Amino acid sequence: GPRPDDDLLEGLNPQQREAVTYRGPALLIVAGAGSGKTSVLTRRVASLLRTREAWPSQILAITFTNKAAGEMRERVGQLIGESARGVWISTFHSACVRILRREAAQFGFTTSFTIYDSGDSRALIKRLVKEHEADAYGLTPAATQGRISKLKNELADAESYARSANMSDPAERVFVEVFSAYQRELQRANAFDFDDLIGQTVFLFRAFPHVADVYRRRFRHIMVDEYQDTNHAQYALIHELTRPVSSGGGDEYADSGMMIFDAPAADAPEPASLTVVGDSDQSIYAFRGADIRNIAEFEKDYPGAKVVLLEQNYRSTQNILSAANAVISHNFDRKDKKLWTDVGAGEPIVGFTGYSQHDEAQFIADEIESLHRAGVDYNQIAVFYRTNSQSRALEEIFIRAAVPYKIMGGTKFYERAEIKDALAYLVAIANPADEMALRRIINRPRRGIGDVTIETIARYAQGEQITFRDALANASAIGVGPKIQQAISRLDAVLAEAAEIMLPASGELAPPTAVAEGLQLLLNKSGYYDALRASKDPQDEARVENLDELVAVTREFARNNPEGTLLDFLTEVALVSDADDLEDASGSVSLMTLHTAKGLEYDAVFLTGVEEDLIPHRISAGEPGGPQEERRLFYVGITRARKRLYLSLAMTRAQFGEVTVAMPSRFLQEIPSDLLEWRQSPGDVNSRGGTQSRALNARRPGGGSGFGTGKRYGDDLVPLAKRSPSGSGGSIDKFANRIPAKVRDNGDLELAQGDRIRHDDFGEGRVDAVTGEGAKRVAHVRFDGAGMKKLLIKIAPITKL
Ligand code: ATP
Ligand code: MG
Repeated sequence: GPRPDDDLLEGLNPQQREAVTYRGPALLIVAGAGSGKTSVLTRRVASLLRTREAWPSQILAITFTNKAAGEMRERVGQLIGESARGVWISTFHSACVRILRREAAQFGFTTSFTIYDSGDSRALIKRLVKEHEADAYGLTPAATQGRISKLKNELADAESYARSANMSDPAERVFVEVFSAYQRELQRANAFDFDDLIGQTVFLFRAFPHVADVYRRRFRHIMVDEYQDTNHAQYALIHELTRPVSSGGGDEYADSGMMIFDAPAADAPEPASLTVVGDSDQSIYAFRGADIRNIAEFEKDYPGAKVVLLEQNYRSTQNILSAANAVISHNFDRKDKKLWTDVGAGEPIVGFTGYSQHDEAQFIADEIESLHRAGVDYNQIAVFYRTNSQSRALEEIFIRAAVPYKIMGGTKFYERAEIKDALAYLVAIANPADEMALRRIINRPRRGIGDVTIETIARYAQGEQITFRDALANASAIGVGPKIQQAISRLDAVLAEAAEIMLPASGELAPPTAVAEGLQLLLNKSGYYDALRASKDPQDEARVENLDELVAVTREFARNNPEGTLLDFLTEVALVSDADDLEDASGSVSLMTLHTAKGLEYDAVFLTGVEEDLIPHRISAGEPGGPQEERRLFYVGITRARKRLYLSLAMTRAQFGEVTVAMPSRFLQEIPSDLLEWRQSPGDVNSRGGTQSRALNARRPGGGSGFGTGKRYGDDLVPLAKRSPSGSGGSIDKFANRIPAKVRDNGDLELAQGDRIRHDDFGEGRVDAVTGEGAKRVAHVRFDGAGMKKLLIKIAPITKL
């Protein structure tokens, strides 16, 4: 008979259908690029909902980027409508944040913890490396951060590492010291770094089985996209969630009022079903601890797992696929799988060798313009490179040629100093324990508070056993001169005033614009705006614009999340990842690294810098498995292209002030020559003018005229007007669900006009009106002492009298 999800299966091939409809404890979908893995996962979510096998809240789908999560949410929404809301579709990081926001109080953090991004943790590590004089042992902040991150991804902490390390080596001892100091500082600041978000959730589940049980009962269907790039911590997290429920009822916990889930789980249910999707040929995150074995050993970890293979590619032309197949077949120890397509051979792959990277970029700019004239949208064109620094030459030429473009990742809006300052102000409000945020803003703008004063304040705080923030509120006691004392008091007053706007009493609804208003107040009254406006540095003007943009982001946030809190806002900002700027890419060419390109597709793809030492990258040469991982990265790049693929390189490349002669990448030779049509081959370039000297000439301004594309890129500047403000994107992915900072579930508490209630903070009052519906019902209460307040009935700490 007809299935209720029949329409969801339309157009799928038999293997894809099976992947959508199979029901069982474990399912592994392995398939090459573009074979519909992500599409199938999306439909599987839709199918479970449509057939009513699962409530929305019982599904957890993990994607690799927030952008991918947003797309999947949108697709599921299109397929089945409203009921898609409530499904957790998120990255590992945001899923863990949501869990930790609820549970962090279980183990010594508060729910308002800060999330340290990589720059924040680098700053902290830098300070600790200095304090421990660790640089004497060759421990740079970058290397230390890398090692700590790697260990955390393996779920090791400083103690467990010390047990296995050679502690008679002083360099090891000092590393362990810095590692433990780092962990202590994070805890003291009530902060998690990115790796902790996952590692600490695993720790939480292992240490508190009754907490883990809540989530094991809740999530009945777990799905993970890009499983080949999971690291050990992520693997362990999934493993914890798919274990059998350990305790009987688990109701003790449920009764504590923390359960705000909308679906009751059956008692002692089966372990959650797990579906993972991946392609071991696309594993490109080994350097971040991704473990290809997670996919290779899935069948061992989940005995009886069903395996589905997808082989038809729906994305690319046969020429592109053949090139991809040919390249990847050079990796040994892989299962051979051949992708095929029925869309036809398509255009040949185009190769181009420039004399210099400018020449290469000029070719790309010209080609983009001709594609555009032929009707290809700019946002259907992407340019990939191996390292961020390669973008500069491309940008220069694109600006001159007026090609609208946008850098994904790289120049990140949220990494600009002024934006970090503004966010630090917000963090200082949301999490007063966060000393690093306070240290960042205490002298920005300049208030005459130097390092000596900061240390004096820190010592005072330590002596009095109060926080750094509380010390600021007590300026007169710190023991600093009157001018500095005054500066501190003024800062304290501004912070206190902003906190009043942005942090309403528990359960009270702040107006949606609270974050925007608070931010503006902070920027105005702290003197931050004034200092920038008074400056003669033209860059400071741009900084004001960027801050205005941030205010615009908070306003947009308010529109999208009428009940969003300061904490919700900061959480979203902290989780914005490289690929998330993509939202604004309409109408411009996307430039990004090969790593960022994962999972995406474009009509036309330019893969640039196809040279030895770039791809494969120089640093990979010495790493075990390095060149193979680089080949996979190249494979990922090729397989993003739908119709057109360009491979380009330059014979000379200026980097870090040095000009080097480049060799064509070995990967080029792995592509059958009948698939490649060279517009200008490496041989052409060599025969054209005595290799190096001619090539070196070519990179001088104007020296490039007369050959190649015949364009001069030196002195005929195109005005910068069309330049897109790279990275200044403000749109932030919306969470479908948010977690209130303090959760109290009043369930269906019925309130009506005239009722008297008691509020934990405001005392007694009388209900004036009730508005809104369901979980969003709001009581307008006139308190006897505290005046009018709006309260979200579901979570406000109120009782009816
Ligand atoms: P990657 O390995 O790059 O992540 P993938 O396996 O996840 O790729 P998808 O992104 O899901 O592949 O699909 C690639 C393209 O093929 C998409 O444009 C998708 O809409 C399309 N597609 C997938 N399955 C079908 C199908 N049965 N019929 C038509 N188009 C399909
Ligand atoms: Mg995919």
